[in-house]
Amino acid sequence: MSRTSTPVVAHWFAGEGADFRLLGTRCSACAAVFFPREDAFCRNPGCAGGELVEAPLSRRGRVWSYTDGRYRPPSPYVSDPELPWEPYTLIAVELAAERMVVLGQGVPGLSVADLEVGMEMEVVPGVLNEDDETTWTTWHWRPVGVGA
Ligand SMILES: [Zn+2]
Repeated sequence: MSRTSTPVVAHWFAGEGADFRLLGTRCSACAAVFFPREDAFCRNPGCAGGELVEAPLSRRGRVWSYTDGRYRPPSPYVSDPELPWEPYTLIAVELAAERMVVLGQGVPGLSVADLEVGMEMEVVPGVLNEDDETTWTTWHWRPVGVGA
């Protein structure tokens, strides 16, 4: 039996392969962009408020900071306590057009030794966790030109 593929959070990303994009929202009044998406009201204190429209974010950005997770985070982080903990990298990537920083895990196998501030990264589909029925999907950051 095959697993269904389910985003770990709904409506934060969409698309396959080269069309994969993070989804934010943009205020139609002041053009501020929000990620995670803001669907209730514009958070710009200088804005009277406008319609919030879904806005795919830039696929590429540059490393702003990074660290790694060598220990299993507490619940509600989803992980199988039966399996040994696999360290992962956590990368903050600055998107120039949106003037924002988006956190995400690095692709599997990427370590902090592979990273430096300013390196160009692109967003790719990733897997956060799998159980018997479901593959929980997320986004990962991958250095541009590596494993493409
Ligand atoms: Zn606004």
